[in-house]
Amino acid sequence: MEIFETLTALEYGELHFAHDAGSGLRAIIALHSTKLGPAIGGCRIRAYENDGEAIDDVTRLGRGMSYKAAHAGLPHGGGKSVILAPPGLASPGFDRKKLFEAFGRFIDGLGGRYLTAEDSGTSPSDMNVIRGVTKHVLGASPEHGGSGDPSPFTALGCRRGIEAVNEHVLGRKGLDGLHVAIQGVGHVGYYLAKELAALGATLTIADVNPARIELVTRELKAKVVPIESILEVECDILAPCALGGAITEACARRVSAKAVAGAANNQLRTPGSGEILAERGIFYAPDYIINGGGLIHVAAEYAGYQREPTLARVNKVYDSIRDLIVRVRQEKVRPEIVADQMAREIIARG
Ligand code: NAD
Repeated sequence: MEIFETLTALEYGELHFAHDAGSGLRAIIALHSTKLGPAIGGCRIRAYENDGEAIDDVTRLGRGMSYKAAHAGLPHGGGKSVILAPPGLASPGFDRKKLFEAFGRFIDGLGGRYLTAEDSGTSPSDMNVIRGVTKHVLGASPEHGGSGDPSPFTALGCRRGIEAVNEHVLGRKGLDGLHVAIQGVGHVGYYLAKELAALGATLTIADVNPARIELVTRELKAKVVPIESILEVECDILAPCALGGAITEACARRVSAKAVAGAANNQLRTPGSGEILAERGIFYAPDYIINGGGLIHVAAEYAGYQREPTLARVNKVYDSIRDLIVRVRQEKVRPEIVADQMAREIIARG
C-alpha cells in the first residue's frame, strides 16, 4: 500500500501509529483535519487481514467524520482510531484495561488534537478506562462524567431530516399520515418511531430481534413486516436504521419509497446504489448529515454539556437537509455527491 497516495487522495492530514509491547496495543489514529477544531471520531477495535486494510479503514472513516462534523456545524475536525485486535482479546484472561490505558496514553500524547469516543467493538466502560489516563475522550458513562446514550438525539435529528424531505421533496406539510418504513428498531429506530408516531406518521417496521418489535408495538401502532420485505414496502419514506450497506444495487432497484432517509451509517453499499435510486427518482438523504444528532450530543460534552444549545443544534439537521435539497435541484447532481462537496466547502471556509 502506498500510504502517502492514500493520504493525498483523501485530503489528509496526519496518520499516527503506536505500538506497546506490554499491553499488545497496535493502534492507528487518523487526523483528517483539525482546521475547524480538535478532530473528533470514535475508536474501533477489529481484527484486520493486514496493516493496509486497517489504514484504509481508519483513513476513510476519519474523512467521513470531518464531513459529518462540518455539516453538523461543530467546531471540530474529523478523525478516527483503530486498535488492531490483539491475539486473545476475547479470552477471559485478557487484560483489556491495560490495552485501553496504553491507548489512552497514545491519545494523550496528541495533546487534545484528537478526541476519541465509542465505536464498533468498544464500549462506555472502555471509554471510562481511557478517561482514567487522558481527558481527551467523550462518551464515557454518566457516572464517569459522560453524556450517556446519544441515540435519542440521533433519532431527533433524523426526524428533523425526514421533516425537511417531507416538505421540500414530497411537497407535504406536517408528518400527519406520512408513511415511514423503518428497518431496525434498535436504539435509534425505536426513538425514531416514537418521534414520528407523536407527529401522526403511519409506521411499518421490521427487526430481526422479536423483543424490539414487541417493545415498539406495545407502545405504538405499527404494522410489522418480515425483514425480507421492509426495503420494498410501498411508502413515502424508507428509513434504514439497522446495519450499514442495506441499500445494495439490487435493493435500490426494488425500493418502493419516494425517499430514503434513515439513521444507519453507510447506507449505500456502492456508489451504484445511489445512482440507481437517483435514476428512479428516489431522493436519498445522505446518512452522515441526517444521523449527525448523536455526534452533536457527544461533542457537546467537550464544551461542558448544556441541553438546550445541544437540542437547538440537533434541530438544525432540518436546515442542513433543506439546504442540500436546494443545491441538488440547482446543480442536478446526486445528493451524496453534493453533500461531500458542501462539507469540503465548509471546511475550506474555516
Ligand atoms: P442497534 O444495534 O441498537 O439497532 C439496530 C437494530 O437493527 C437492532 O434492533 C437489530 O436487531 C436490527 N437489525 C439488524 N439487522 C437487521 C435486518 N437485517 N433487518 C431488520 N433489522 C435488523 O444500533 P443503533 O445504535 O440503533 O444504530 C443503528 C444504525 O444507526 C447503525 O448503522 C449505527 O451505526 C447508526 N448510527 C447510530 C447512532 C446512535 O446514536 N446510536 C448514531 C449515528 C449512526
